Amino acid sequence: MYRLLLCCFFLILTCQPAAATVEIALSGHPPVPLTEVYQREGTSFLAVDDVLASVGLVGRWYSVEHVYKFKTPRGTAVMSPGSQFIRIGGDFIPLAHKPRFIDSRLRVAEDFVTGNLQSLIGQTVYYRNLNPVLEEEPGEEGSLDRLFAFLLSKKKSTSAAVLRGIEIDPGHGGEDSGVIGLGGIKEKAVALDAARRLEKLVKMQMGIPVYMSRDDDYALTWKKRFEPATRDDVDALISIHAQGAFSPAAKGVTLFVRPQKQESDEAAAGTKTGESLRLANALKASLAKEGLSVGDIIEAPLLPLGRGDLPAVLIELGYLSNAEDKSRLTDSQGLDQVTRALYAGLKAYADKQKEFQN
Ligand SMILES: [Zn+2]
Repeated sequence: MYRLLLCCFFLILTCQPAAATVEIALSGHPPVPLTEVYQREGTSFLAVDDVLASVGLVGRWYSVEHVYKFKTPRGTAVMSPGSQFIRIGGDFIPLAHKPRFIDSRLRVAEDFVTGNLQSLIGQTVYYRNLNPVLEEEPGEEGSLDRLFAFLLSKKKSTSAAVLRGIEIDPGHGGEDSGVIGLGGIKEKAVALDAARRLEKLVKMQMGIPVYMSRDDDYALTWKKRFEPATRDDVDALISIHAQGAFSPAAKGVTLFVRPQKQESDEAAAGTKTGESLRLANALKASLAKEGLSVGDIIEAPLLPLGRGDLPAVLIELGYLSNAEDKSRLTDSQGLDQVTRALYAGLKAYADKQKEFQN
């Protein structure tokens, strides 16, 4: 299962157990699960002792000095609760969240693992949160459900053109880097770069509006992320990600759609799920035609796909842990090749739908 490490995913399975778990691993090592996960400030906090142990480091709390020290290849690192910095010698490394004592253990936010830790030990750290905090704004309780209810009732006008507009959703953003791959490349940056190129192609060549969930490097609530999809003229959602795996050999594009509905309730709500699959098939065909390796289309209940009837496909553009994929996704020509293929797939899907209407 780790070959297909969906560490960037917000896997929301209805049958998911309530216990929060994260996994941390160094390249070539089996992942270490941590089960003590505290949700604070809209993120997950982990015991610093557990985090360090998972990558072979040791540290301890000095109660008199009121600091926590641990040895790294760069020297002894010092952190303290309430301080926004880690100190190594004369260097001060900023932390996105201050460490804090929760249940009598010093804990760090998960961005310590995905950001600071990698630079401290000088190698890639894979991190996967199986139960991430849903970034709902305070007082928004239930609003995501209402949003999905809205998407579920979204009806496409049969008289209008098939694709009147689309939402492109570059995954992650801001403090949420997504996967961190070879050379420290961040998934959020790759996703945004690819999304912008696709946006441009669709606007220029299809002449339809494109709504981006984000157009820069900032975090989004789920509500904000899906907001463009609720527009009346949005007829498809494309979510763009890239993934990482423990095995450097894992590579290629992967497409995800919502789980297919059972035949029995096809009449009620199944048709649009079929649309998602049709869109995914069109994208897959054009990616393959462009010479990119594409795996099977996977049906999974991923939150970024929403839960409504809007045709939606989540694309993992490749593995940032694989040298070949990584160089394609960090190269302008490589990204153009991928986005050209995505555009061609989208166009083929739209043309096919027009045929059906005529
Ligand atoms: Zn992702």
